[in-house]
Order: sequence, then structure tokens, then C-alpha cells
Amino acid sequence: MVAQAMRGRRAVVAPNSGHFTVAFDSVCDDQDSEAIQALTSRLSGELRCSALAVIIHDDDVLGYFLYHNGELANWYNSCPSYLDFGSTKEPSGPAGGNAERLCAAFGAGSQQEVESILRKQRGRGGYVFETERHRDLVRALSLPKLAVGTALASFDRGEYPDGLSADQMVRAADPPPMENRQRRLDREFYDRLGTEDSSRPCKRDGCPRGAIVNSVLCKRHHFEMIQRRDCPFDH
Ligand SMILES: [Zn+2]
Repeated sequence: MVAQAMRGRRAVVAPNSGHFTVAFDSVCDDQDSEAIQALTSRLSGELRCSALAVIIHDDDVLGYFLYHNGELANWYNSCPSYLDFGSTKEPSGPAGGNAERLCAAFGAGSQQEVESILRKQRGRGGYVFETERHRDLVRALSLPKLAVGTALASFDRGEYPDGLSADQMVRAADPPPMENRQRRLDREFYDRLGTEDSSRPCKRDGCPRGAIVNSVLCKRHHFEMIQRRDCPFDH
């Protein structure tokens, strides 16, 4: 279902693991947070479920967006000051994050444990790499481990999480080529020609199609007569 909902995207969907499905989409690798939110919102809305998108930047910052039935339920940023260049203020601690929401969304985990994972600072006694925080969160919430340390690029390099192989992964087919403006205008014109009447054969020699209303030609031949070039469609 997830793979179907992601059809046409550059993405890989892992096989279900318990009640969960992990997907790796190119917008995550690009760290495009607007596109990540749009995708997560759409998936959780269409599939009526909770969806958690986790972003790790250079292993220094971990952020997440939790959506439920299409609505943003909670977000988190482990280091809001990270990209705040030139600021003289001390690095601030993690912002956002709601252990109660996370535990409720996935029906698992101890709120206290999740809360301590979210609040743990970096450095001595804390996390050195944000992948560690991700690993702990995934474990605490009983989510599939294969989400940790994996990106779409991993699959492109032929690297698969432990216990999984290429043929278990579903690739959400390559995106359709962008339809250019002229092509779109042509298609709109073509579609406006309406339906063909099979009881009135197209007058062009050898054409098996019926003529459209107000013309002696079929859609294709009418298009070619008006536009004076080949018709790119045949539906
Ligand atoms: Zn024709």
C-alpha cells in the first residue's frame, strides 16, 4: 500500500516489519524539509495512519516530523542553533519533541525513556552522533531497525540493511518525465475534441477510427489538420 501511494517517486519501500513500513524517498536524501513534510502528510492522510519522517544532517542534527491522518502532530529538532551561523549565543538544547505523542502514535515505548532520549545533549555523557539518538528512539518505540543509518543512496550503492536483499525492496518506479508546456497544451486541445462516433468513419483513407462531432475526421486526424503536425496522442 505504501509503495502504491508512492508510485512514480524516486523511492524504495522496505518489506513490512510488524505493523510498520519504512520508505526511503529522494526528498529525504535531499533533506528538503518542505517536500519531506508534504510527502509525510500525504502518506499519513491517504493511508489513515501515523507517519514519522526522520532527518539526520551530517550526523550532527536529528529532526523529525510526526504526522497523523495528514496533520502535523509533533516535530523535533535536536539542535536548533546548528545552522545559526554567526550567532554568539550558547548552543541551545533540543527543541520540540513530545514523548507522549510518539508513544501514543506507535502504541509502544516508555514515555520516560523516550523523553530522556529526546532531551539528551551532545558530547560528554550524551550522544556523539545523532545516528545513536535515532537508533535509541527506534528501539524505544519498537520501530523497524532497518530505518537507522539507511538512505535511498544506500540502495543505489547496492547496500542493504542486515537480513534484507535487493529483491525484497520495492522501487516506486521512476518518476514520469515532466510534461512540457507545449505537450500539455496539445493534450488539452486533443482532449477537448471529445469522443469519436464509430458510426461515422473518419474520412482519412484507411483510418479505422470514428469521426468527432462537427468534423469528418477522427481526433488524431482532426488534430493534425488543425495543428499541421503529427499528433502525439492516440487515446
Ligand atoms: Zn482518422
